[in-house]
Amino acid sequence: MNLFETIDETEHEQVVFCHNKDAGLKAIIAIHNTTLGPALGGLRMWNYESEEEALNDVLRLSRGMTYKASVAGLNLGGGKAVIIGDPKTEKSEALFRAFGRAVDWLNGRYITAEDVSIDVNDMEYILQETDFVVGVHQTHGGSGDPSPFTAYGTYQGIKASLETKFGNEDVGKYSYAVQGVGHVGFELCKLLRKDGAKVFVTDINEEAVARAVDELECEAVGVEDIYDMDADCFCPSALGSILNEETIPRFKFKMVAGSANNQLATEQCGELLKKRDILYAPDYAINAGGLMNVSIELEGYDRKRAVRMTRTIYYNLKRIFKIAERDDITTGKAADRMAEERIETIGKIKLPYGGRPRAFKGRSKNNNNH
Ligand code: NAD
Repeated sequence: MNLFETIDETEHEQVVFCHNKDAGLKAIIAIHNTTLGPALGGLRMWNYESEEEALNDVLRLSRGMTYKASVAGLNLGGGKAVIIGDPKTEKSEALFRAFGRAVDWLNGRYITAEDVSIDVNDMEYILQETDFVVGVHQTHGGSGDPSPFTAYGTYQGIKASLETKFGNEDVGKYSYAVQGVGHVGFELCKLLRKDGAKVFVTDINEEAVARAVDELECEAVGVEDIYDMDADCFCPSALGSILNEETIPRFKFKMVAGSANNQLATEQCGELLKKRDILYAPDYAINAGGLMNVSIELEGYDRKRAVRMTRTIYYNLKRIFKIAERDDITTGKAADRMAEERIETIGKIKLPYGGRPRAFKGRSKNNNNH
């Protein structure tokens, strides 16, 4: 792999390799774009097969965060970090404190958070070394579980999709097929059922399905049958790549609006949905509620503000659908275009004031609204 060529191609501002022999730290922090503000993105710990695999992962994920934050209307850029190591056996106080120091040296250009296989206990160690961290425990002014916000944002996105597709946003009038009733899926079912909607659910975890059936009166269907359901809206809330060449031709759905990350297996699958006149709510735009929620920690967490901000997902999606129509492109491409247009316009406004984005000064110490 040609390192600098790869970084050039993905248009990253900065890639930092962090190493501490005594702590066993091998980490990469990727800062993709800070035009809108400091780069925020989670830390992931994974037993990567190679350093190249870790680098590719962090470059791909940090770029995704730039687009997500931009479409969400946040004054944040995109970044991400990975620690190379086995999260089951190689976690330690020294490891996370060494990582925290590396974050601190960046002086606010990168703000870290939880991601795959990192929990609030790990974040406590990071917090000992740096203020540039969100997603910490509530006793430190953290925002807690993001899932209800992600679900609420998805619900707002469903409303925007209904309005675009059917000319009304009467959630209860339509039927939904929810794939995965975990943290987000279950909360989403709650909101849909509250409006009186018919909701089909599936999950590989039978207990999770039983809970949705018993507590919310959803209807259980088989794991493979979910793609064939006669429902108006498909809500992927489990895995990525479920919108693919095998599943899309089976759809009777009129729209897809769910929280899962990386739903499209390929870009062509977005075209396939467009051809079949199935309205797709781009994943990173509809599932931004969790990011919005955690971003409020930077100014002192306020739950009411988080709810209010999450509602903007409705308008973000409406704009994406308008761009898709205006330019006759897929909604996925329209979301990318919206993100890029915002970065370009806001970037121009910022430049005369000094040329460089301001770094964040550290999380607010005295705010704990819980
Ligand atoms: P979760 O692990 O709590 O729930 C996922 C559920 O999907 C589990 O119950 C699991 O058993 C089920 N599942 C796994 N494989 C399945 C399959 N083949 N068929 C049916 N069900 C299957 O995760 P979550 O936090 O609810 O997140 C759900 C999705 O939303 C993920 O793609 C996640 O990346 C994305 N997301 C979550 C958040 C958040 O705030 N939690 C934010 C943004 C995006």
